[in-house]
Amino acid sequence: MTLEHQSHTGSPLAQAPLAHQLWQSGQLSLEDCQQAVQQAHQQRVPLMDWLQRHTPLNEQQLAQAAAKAYALPYDALDTLPPHLPDITDLPAGWALQHHVVPLQRTAEQLTIGIKSTHQLAILESLRFQLGVDIRPVMVPASRLEATLKLHVNSSATIDSIAPRQDRTTQQPIAPEAELNHLLAEACWHQASDIHLEPYQNHCRVRLRIDGQLHEWQMLDRDTLTRWINRIKIMAQLDIAETRRPQDGQMHFKDHHAATDMRISTLPTPWGEHLVLRLLGTTANHLALHQDALSQLGMTSTQYTQLKQALDQPQGLILVTGPTGSGKSTTLYSALQYLNQPERHLVTAEDPIEVHLTGVSQVSLQPQIGFTFAQALRAFLRQDPDVIMIGEMRDQETAEMAIRAAQTGHLVLSTLHTGAIAETLLRLRHWHLEGEQLASSLQLLMAQRLVRRLCQACRQPVTPTPQWREYLPEQAPPKIIYKAQGCPQCYGGYQGRLGLYHLAPMTPELRALILNDASPAALEAQLNEHETKPLRYQGLQQVIAGLTSLAEIDRVVPV
Ligand SMILES: [Zn+2]
Repeated sequence: MTLEHQSHTGSPLAQAPLAHQLWQSGQLSLEDCQQAVQQAHQQRVPLMDWLQRHTPLNEQQLAQAAAKAYALPYDALDTLPPHLPDITDLPAGWALQHHVVPLQRTAEQLTIGIKSTHQLAILESLRFQLGVDIRPVMVPASRLEATLKLHVNSSATIDSIAPRQDRTTQQPIAPEAELNHLLAEACWHQASDIHLEPYQNHCRVRLRIDGQLHEWQMLDRDTLTRWINRIKIMAQLDIAETRRPQDGQMHFKDHHAATDMRISTLPTPWGEHLVLRLLGTTANHLALHQDALSQLGMTSTQYTQLKQALDQPQGLILVTGPTGSGKSTTLYSALQYLNQPERHLVTAEDPIEVHLTGVSQVSLQPQIGFTFAQALRAFLRQDPDVIMIGEMRDQETAEMAIRAAQTGHLVLSTLHTGAIAETLLRLRHWHLEGEQLASSLQLLMAQRLVRRLCQACRQPVTPTPQWREYLPEQAPPKIIYKAQGCPQCYGGYQGRLGLYHLAPMTPELRALILNDASPAALEAQLNEHETKPLRYQGLQQVIAGLTSLAEIDRVVPV
């Protein structure tokens, strides 16, 4: 087996054989191919995945094109194989874990079905492990998963996790290589966190994808300990300290992915529990686009309102929502929009999640007294145009932010509150005068994230009569969709959608704030529909078939 592919020196797509093939065969235009390569690279997903999600090409066409591009055989697997070759010398659950399927075996050769050329690297390590020639075959993704489902027992028990051994040397395979593989997989699936969890009788790895935790694999204690030690070394933590929590950072890079990770340890009765937060993956990749603002998923009115507020020379823009509602993504996208050579941008964050070229970013260090308020004080001596304060946590920070917003600075910040009226009450509770608020606020914004339905497996359902009460002003839709689940997604969902409520400072709203109006009066002014604004947005997305009613009920209940 070889990783070589046909070389197309001189082609504008020389680095992307699959894209080159699709262009040459006339299936996609050169422009589409170049955009696909660029987007897949920026979003750190395999090109094939990106193409499947964003172009009309189906999985058979893509698998065939990839086979041609990499000079691999293609098998449509029209009939699922009645049985699979014996692979008992591979670790239990290996095929499932890597989403590849062994198809044929002779003394010298093992034929393995893959669904993406990105998996060729996995086969390379397998060749060393088994000491046989590996023959990769491209197969359509759903046929591969169906074969796995049919033949490979997914309930690999904890007992079956034997220490992995190298066939030729009888030595255990370095757990380090497997750890690297886990980190690469986490990047590939755009996970936001990796949990390494010890328990009394077993150890578990979970990944958070699209905001939900998924059980990924079970480990024996030795492997977990070796992984944890390796991570602690990479993050420059004290490897001997296992009884106190520690924090650190590390950088991970392989052929397909690179990311910064924040590491935290927590001592439990069964050993250290590690959480690795992947910075600069998941939703954060949005912020790296120059045009990230337009990709937040706002309505065109909301997008215009946000841009108008950002185009002001001064004022306060507040983004509110609970943890995990996408506030950072919104702020980073706004910063990217404002990031022009003629402006000086500064940020105080806890910690810095995405590094932006051209922006002066500082990380808080509360343990030495470097707080948001301190950072703000330092900023004002640095002649900034735009100031981003990660979060307004106290009265002092809020007061200083408002003063900065009144004296020629555009200030962006977040507040951990649910709705806009609640935000105004919180600010008032911090003894900020109606007059101060009315003269400094530019835009108030509340937001949530809901999971996006997998378009491959969503199930149509008829809305119940109750729907009329949810959206009394609108005729109910004939069909909405619910989640099902398929090999391409997690529980019927894939990716996330933002729901937004924007309140620009109209003269009416300004007057209400100035006069310390009651919460009821504020809400009457802010809510233009009978349904609460965020829920209204969510229900519109249900009608559009992008998310489910269950998801809206979970995130923005009645
Ligand atoms: Zn699905």
